[in-house]
Amino acid sequence: MPQFDSLTADHALEFPGGYTRSVGPVIGRFLTELRDGRLVGVRTAGGRVLFPPVEYDTDGTPVTGEFVEVGPECTVGAYAWVPRPRPGHPLDRPFAWALITPDGADTAMLHVLDLGVFEAGAKPPKTLRAGLRVRPKWRAERTGTVGDIESFRPDVTMINAPVRADYRLSAGRALSRFLGGVAEGRLLGHRCGVCGKVYVPMKGMCPVDGVPTTEEVEVPDTGTVTTFAVNNIPDPRAPDVPFVSAYVLLDGSDIAMVALVAGLPADEVRMGMRVRAAWRPREEWGQTMANIKWFEPTGEPDVPFDDIKDHL
Ligand SMILES: [Zn+2]
Repeated sequence: MPQFDSLTADHALEFPGGYTRSVGPVIGRFLTELRDGRLVGVRTAGGRVLFPPVEYDTDGTPVTGEFVEVGPECTVGAYAWVPRPRPGHPLDRPFAWALITPDGADTAMLHVLDLGVFEAGAKPPKTLRAGLRVRPKWRAERTGTVGDIESFRPDVTMINAPVRADYRLSAGRALSRFLGGVAEGRLLGHRCGVCGKVYVPMKGMCPVDGVPTTEEVEVPDTGTVTTFAVNNIPDPRAPDVPFVSAYVLLDGSDIAMVALVAGLPADEVRMGMRVRAAWRPREEWGQTMANIKWFEPTGEPDVPFDDIKDHL
């Protein structure tokens, strides 16, 4: 069989100068109100409010001629996300077509939903959902067309304000002493003279008994993971995600301290796991907890839950 390419030709359907028609009293009123910056619907004989207004109800009954102002607050119903707008689309960046029902109306109008600036091909944002509350964005110059509404935009529910505070933290006597120990590769704490608990880092007092503490104790840099969290947001101290931050109960201490845990896949970290501090090279040490890069598994058997349950 011989193969034939099917023939094609490009055409355009166009009324040069536009297609002029009269709109009648109902749609005419709708467009006039749009020009003046208002949304109106028309009441049916059955009491519903049709928006945009039309001459007849769905069952063919003429509407009452009573116009009702609706909106400007509106609700999004069905929608379609347009990741790559075409020539002739109302916006040249991703947007949604949506069925929009103004408060006080019983029917919806198809219009443009502008959810902000997105790159071409973007996925629909999480804010796009049925039930989203929106308002019309009116054009400054209006002529009496549905284009007098440039788009509908979500209500303002959040702001983003720049935040920055510069301050100097004073470590105080107890923490300064602790960091002095860390600068020498030692972990220091205080034992409470009343309850006997050991606090690392020391705080200079026992929060349980409300008494000052002075008896200094040094604990080893080994401990047990009590609880932990797997983090998927990068942190300056742990740029590779996922990373694990954990409460590590140092041997001989009664209060766990927060530290990074590394040296094994994040999903293998577990409660009761034995760990040891991974110190940075000695020449990099300062009076800072950054001397300890993180804690790594020692390979010892896990500690039973009963032994750590009082330290969670
Ligand atoms: Zn105490």
